[in-house]
Amino acid sequence: MKKTTGFDRSKTKNWHPATQAVRGGTWRSEHGETSEALFLTSGYTYDSAEEVAARFAGEEQGMTYSRLQNPTVSMLEERIALMEGAEACRTQATGMAAMTTALLCQLSAGDHIVAAKAAFGSCRWLVDHLCPRFGIETTVVDGRDNDAWEKAIKANTKVFFFETPANPTMDIVDMKHVCGLAKAHGITTVVDNAFATAALQRPMDFGADVVAYSATKLMEGQGRVLAGAVCGTEKFINDVLLPFQRNTGPNLSPFNAWVVLKGLETLDLRARRQSENALAVGKAIEGRVARMLHPGLASHPQHNLAMSQSSACGPIFSFVLDGGRERAMTFLNALELVDISNNIGDSRSLCCHPWTTTHYGVSEEARIDMGVVEGMLRINIGLEDPRDVTADLDQALTKVGL
Ligand SMILES: *Cc1c(COP(=O)(O)O)cnc(C)c1O
Repeated sequence: MKKTTGFDRSKTKNWHPATQAVRGGTWRSEHGETSEALFLTSGYTYDSAEEVAARFAGEEQGMTYSRLQNPTVSMLEERIALMEGAEACRTQATGMAAMTTALLCQLSAGDHIVAAKAAFGSCRWLVDHLCPRFGIETTVVDGRDNDAWEKAIKANTKVFFFETPANPTMDIVDMKHVCGLAKAHGITTVVDNAFATAALQRPMDFGADVVAYSATKLMEGQGRVLAGAVCGTEKFINDVLLPFQRNTGPNLSPFNAWVVLKGLETLDLRARRQSENALAVGKAIEGRVARMLHPGLASHPQHNLAMSQSSACGPIFSFVLDGGRERAMTFLNALELVDISNNIGDSRSLCCHPWTTTHYGVSEEARIDMGVVEGMLRINIGLEDPRDVTADLDQALTKVGL
């Protein structure tokens, strides 16, 4: 394997994320293939017994087992780290494997975590149910409230955990303030950046320590595979995360890593076009719905903050219809182009009812507390012509009497 220009950080570190997304981290075999090679292998062979012993002892570079290293997976990890402006990255099988790894690798019984209450259902489950089972104290706060983060800090607070924008309420966290606060108290911030990706928003530029991903979403971008990633300093990834990951094994498969590599090549294009489309569709239907939750529109109470942290609004927004679950479901059933689907980040427009799907596993009380109501719908705007998506939403809104 030849590490090409794309792999030499001394030459690539000033490339912009869009360039990194196409070229960052590329290795090439002796065949000089243009597209990254797919190494579907679990193990490796050695020329001698001494060679494998030296590799296990860390005295010699080289692969030993695909739970520890794989060339295709390593290319993806290096590419994501370069895009993020992070020292290092490790990938996991799913976004939830990434979140679980990012939290449990550094938390122990007796520690305390503060999390934003508006979060993807399973992220909220980690905080509400998993952490307490292992003696980790948790506090949930309104992520939009800077003072609430400060008030929640205790002597044993180890981690701040949030998404921005949050799924599906589109709450925005003031990253500069909250990450700065964490830093002043020796707290590690873990930011779930699935909605924006490094193409639109780089939390580390605002002081985040760890950036975690569902790469299933916008990164992969075409609804094919599940994947996750965690970025951080070399010290965090190698000394804190890696011992956990190597021994618990939430690893990403080389095949799925390869699919995500292909997805990243078009990430910048997709993220920008889908953001433009989401803006056009959002503007067109805003006057027809009871509440619009769209960070790209001036009606979002945190619009200025959102746009100061991101270069575009992203493909996802939510809206609320008066008439609760019944009207929301009738609306979904009336869609003709947009699919009913709880996935996001896809190149297809997809719409779902968070109350009965993505947030079904969160207690009703917590759902209401975070602002998920029965009339809420979350939509991912894809790469279709936004006029066709708008026309579909228009006819569905008309069918429900709006
Ligand atoms: C989807 C999602 C996850 C979970 O990712 P999977 O790849 O489905 O496991 C975590 N956080 C956010 C914000 C998400 O949207």
